[in-house]
Amino acid sequence: MPETDLDAFFETLKSNTKGSVLCGQSVREIHGRDESPYQPCLPDAVFIPESAEDAAIAVSLCAKAGVPVIPFGVGSGQEGGVIATRGGLSIDTSGLNSILEVNVEDMECLVEAGVTRLQLEAELRATGLFFPVDPGADASLGGMVATGASGTTAPLYGSMRENVMGLEVVLANGTTIVTGSRAPKSSSGYNLTQLFVASEGTLGLATKIRLKLHPQPESRIALKASFSDVRDAVGVVSTMRASGLPVARAELMNATLMRGIALLHKESMLDKHLLCLEFHADEAGVKSLVDQAQDIFNDYGGEEIETVTRADDLSKIWKIRHSVAEAEKCLRPGASVIVTDVCVPVSRLSDIIDQAEMKLADTSLLAPLSGHVADGNFHYALLVNVDDPAEMARARDFKDWLAEAALRMGGTISGEHGIGLGKRHLMRDEHGAALEAMRAIKSALDPENIFNPGKVLPCES
Ligand SMILES: Cc1cc2nc3c(=O)[nH]c(=O)nc-3n(C[C@H](O)[C@H](O)[C@H](O)COP(=O)(O)OP(=O)(O)OC[C@H]3O[C@@H](n4cnc5c(N)ncnc54)[C@H](O)[C@@H]3O)c2cc1C
Repeated sequence: MPETDLDAFFETLKSNTKGSVLCGQSVREIHGRDESPYQPCLPDAVFIPESAEDAAIAVSLCAKAGVPVIPFGVGSGQEGGVIATRGGLSIDTSGLNSILEVNVEDMECLVEAGVTRLQLEAELRATGLFFPVDPGADASLGGMVATGASGTTAPLYGSMRENVMGLEVVLANGTTIVTGSRAPKSSSGYNLTQLFVASEGTLGLATKIRLKLHPQPESRIALKASFSDVRDAVGVVSTMRASGLPVARAELMNATLMRGIALLHKESMLDKHLLCLEFHADEAGVKSLVDQAQDIFNDYGGEEIETVTRADDLSKIWKIRHSVAEAEKCLRPGASVIVTDVCVPVSRLSDIIDQAEMKLADTSLLAPLSGHVADGNFHYALLVNVDDPAEMARARDFKDWLAEAALRMGGTISGEHGIGLGKRHLMRDEHGAALEAMRAIKSALDPENIFNPGKVLPCES
């Protein structure tokens, strides 16, 4: 759009809404990037709505003027989802930060999209309930819906897919729809709620979210052990799943990552892979689960097996797990990080990691591994020098190779981070003809392609 048209557009936006329209360079820079290594692109302006109504008016005006809309949560995404590749208006949901309802009896709540997961956690603490999805960053719930986020407790409680009951969404034509209900189940029509989960802001702007809550567990115990072979750590979790032992968390950190963790926390080095499990139940139940898990640890040659029961020690373990992004950077200070995110059937997890380790040895890339083992989802953090084209090419090749390997094993190119900019070229390989069904949905809901253009779906050409 010519600049004069944009100036007039921003004036109209200001006079029709109560929110803030910000055009300064620094605020646009903050909104033109996320935690991915992709080249930032600035939006023409940032709009911070004061209310869902404000957001709906802004979307309507954008639709009329043909201005792209890029929804923005806190910008912690790993796939370039908020990068404004075609300029436009970044709609920052931080002003939509109210927790509107907490219905304790029905174990659900209604929040505005800009509420962050730690804000919700603090609000729920006294209710005896909690919301389980805990990505490493303090992400917005709107962003978590849009990326189909997941966290360490997905084996027991599920990811965003299983924990969103309904949404309020502003569509490209400016209408606001409400999907889902407060009922625990429904057979009423198409499941529009799920359509928006992992749609990465390409189908609409979520303004309100109804979330399932869970009772805080009466008792929690963690069990950790080190392993010389990743296969044994994965074997523990596969055997537990096959025996029906409900594990709440199962996180693997490989020996390379443990080196980074030792550097970050100034602790002694452990040249082994670490597996941390957590069980949730009543006191007797949790003890029985841990006893059974301990036997399985022994069967697979787990060393330094340790049971952790004190609340302080438990939170220390998960704080360390949530600090892996910083730990990775300690292994190569100044490097940029390209994070992989494939997910495979758990029975193929050892195979793909074995093959990937061989491939990494060939490419000389430094790549610590963290894994949500019980979900078959794992991340290599490729530590790269973005100014070295040869190294960047090796990293990109590895990322693509890993995605194709996951597909060959019946998996997916993204377990929880989404597609964003960098994986679109793999969408055809994963979805085949179903990609056309996705395109049909996109053009039905957003015929002018104003919502986050250039993301998720590969270019027509
Ligand atoms: C240290 C670290 C650890 C992480 N760990 C995890 C992890 O364990 N699991 C995991 O799943 N992810 C993880 N992530 C990735 C990231 O936190 C998630 O993808 C998160 O869901 C993004 O939320 P956000 O608010 O930052 O969204 P943003 O980055 O702001 O946006 C992400 C995408 O969602 C869209 N969007 C945002 N808000 C809305 C809305 N209201 N309506 C429609 N679309 C919207 C954006 O347009 C964009 O496409 C991690 C990131 C970091 C930096």
